[in-house]
Amino acid sequence: MLAQRKTGFFNKFYLVEIIKGLMITMRNMLFAKRATIQFPEERRDYSEKFRGQHYIKSVNGVENCTACMLCPTVCPAECIHIVAGEREDKEKYPIKFEIDSLRCCFCGMCEEACPKDAIKLSNIYEMSQQNRTVYEKEFLLEQRGNK
Ligand code: SF4
Ligand code: SF4
Repeated sequence: MLAQRKTGFFNKFYLVEIIKGLMITMRNMLFAKRATIQFPEERRDYSEKFRGQHYIKSVNGVENCTACMLCPTVCPAECIHIVAGEREDKEKYPIKFEIDSLRCCFCGMCEEACPKDAIKLSNIYEMSQQNRTVYEKEFLLEQRGNK
């Protein structure tokens, strides 16, 4: 035969447990460090390793990229399209440099493969857009975040 537990008046209505639960909620509400932030007034600091919006590095308005085609070769999503050209000093450069943002999986392989340190992934994470799906060269030259 099963032993029956004696239940007091308060236990019968779970009053003690409800009060314990409310105390935990109040303690967290008033004293615990909040996990949420007031975006966009507050912004979260992401790790240096975070891979966000791509950008092309430039020095004095001249992009580092020499259109060597390594990044489109290693890109697993095949989302980089480059048209190479030649400057007067015979240096190669990208006439066209496009990244299809809908195909990119932000793996960072383009950044790793680049011998000129030209294509990088910034810490910009606000990337939702209504109509831009392809990042063009002019756009990529402007994006750097705080890097
Ligand atoms: S981050 Fe990866 S998928 Fe995106 S463009 Fe670079 S190599 Fe391609
Ligand atoms: S971004 Fe770097 S890897 Fe890609 S084409 Fe330019 S120089 Fe080559």
